[in-house]
Amino acid sequence: MPGKYALNWDLDSLFPNPQTADFAKAVEDYKQALTGLARRADELPKITASGSVATWAEFGGEFERIECLATDLLSFINCHAAGDATNKLFRQFEAQLAALEPLRERVYTNVEFAVRDATPAELSAFINADPWLKKNAFFLEQRRKNAAMRLEKGEELLAADLAVDGIHAWGRLYDRLSGELRIKVMEKGEVVEKSASQIRFDSPERTVRQNNFYAFSKSWKSIADSCADSLNHICGVRLTTYKRLGLTDHLAMPLHRNRMQRGTLEAMWSAIARRKHVLLKYLDAKARLLGVKKLCWYDTQAPLPQASEVGHSAEISYDEGAERVIETFTKFSPHFGEFASHAFNNRWIESENRPGKRQGAFCTGFPGRKQTRVFMTFTNTYDNVSTLAHELGHAYHSWVLREQPPFLQDYPMNLAETASTFAEAVLGEQRLIESKSSGEKLAILDHMLSDAVAFLMNIHARFIFENNFHQERGTGELTAERLSELMLAAQKEAYLEGWMMKAGIPTSGFPSSISISAACRSTISLTRSATCFPPASSPWPKKAASRFPINIAGC
Ligand SMILES: [Zn+2]
Repeated sequence: MPGKYALNWDLDSLFPNPQTADFAKAVEDYKQALTGLARRADELPKITASGSVATWAEFGGEFERIECLATDLLSFINCHAAGDATNKLFRQFEAQLAALEPLRERVYTNVEFAVRDATPAELSAFINADPWLKKNAFFLEQRRKNAAMRLEKGEELLAADLAVDGIHAWGRLYDRLSGELRIKVMEKGEVVEKSASQIRFDSPERTVRQNNFYAFSKSWKSIADSCADSLNHICGVRLTTYKRLGLTDHLAMPLHRNRMQRGTLEAMWSAIARRKHVLLKYLDAKARLLGVKKLCWYDTQAPLPQASEVGHSAEISYDEGAERVIETFTKFSPHFGEFASHAFNNRWIESENRPGKRQGAFCTGFPGRKQTRVFMTFTNTYDNVSTLAHELGHAYHSWVLREQPPFLQDYPMNLAETASTFAEAVLGEQRLIESKSSGEKLAILDHMLSDAVAFLMNIHARFIFENNFHQERGTGELTAERLSELMLAAQKEAYLEGWMMKAGIPTSGFPSSISISAACRSTISLTRSATCFPPASSPWPKKAASRFPINIAGC
């Protein structure tokens, strides 16, 4: 029987279905418009306070329109591809749109070099001479800062062309490999095949968690070398680019993109390193309550038996989860609640638990339509409800910005995670206040503290790993085994060797931990799988964000 809230999102109201000729035409029209814009960008006049203003303002309006269309189309096909990871047609469209990215890059390169070549006085007078330019002053000033991190124009354009089949292609390879991964697990006496996102580690039965974990690890190990190749080449391209730019610090570029000082990042990690030992008490207590000597990876999401004994169910239906999110957000702010209700009722969320979906969760924006879409796989856990809150936090951030000029709606990743983490914290705190039994309180506290472990230990491990990987990669490629060794060492350091663990291939970074510092009050939120990425093909980090579970091999 269908529930109150649809499990599948509505994409058809955004663009024609990719299987129709109308969609192919929409892509072709976009290509023509973008090609025209790139030609115009090649011929933009030099920036001066007079003379060039009208041409630039008119160009700016068209640039804005086509950028919205580009983002809308990329988000649209990405949504379809995430919902059906093996669909070849969707992949072809993704490739077709990716092949147009150098045209977008050409526009940005022209704009950034023109802005860079103007003196500060010329730029200021130019910006103040037209309402569109004035409204987009911040965007233009950011373009000037970006230009300082660029190669010569010809090299930039060549790099953008090569990136289609180079650095950006690795992201699509990851999506295909992880989407096609099938994991064989036992269910009711039968061997069944599941997608990575469908595997659960929260069974009350330790043997079930353990078997799922081993099956999951075995499956990921089958593509370990391909993943290692991807990581080596992504890192290699970056290091080559940084060398050309004269950058000796591999963090200089991500810090610049997050509009952040190195000192801020270091202050955050040192505060985390100083205080996180308190979490060892939680890990010890959880092991004790589960009746095991030491926690294993597959125990971290296990429900506490003391919580279920007093009537607290570890399962929650999608409708209940949705109602809970709406109610909680409404209590915090009616506007926030109205938005969540709008998103559920207008089918902005894809949550169905079915094979063939990509793993992880994300929120992606359609600035041209003033809408967003949320992707996840709801497997009836409270953790999933937190994920819903997290992604709706991103969506709400976009919603409150929707009337701003499109170029000003963009924000860096560290800021993006603030909205989502905050939304999760609101949900967690309200749940704690309303919980009636000590068992339920225990379950909620367990969830909150495991989030703290995710942020302060898991994300820290990924950061240490990436840091060491970038340094070692400078001298050559690393094998999958060496990557695992580096990850194990990073985990030992980040988890204070608090419990049993083994290595795995990790993902990225520091923005999530930054957000937690910014967004959380008494508790820390975001699930253990938290880490959000900008799409590889975007010229700047956009507000699409995704969460990938850490991929752990062996315990
Ligand atoms: Zn996020």
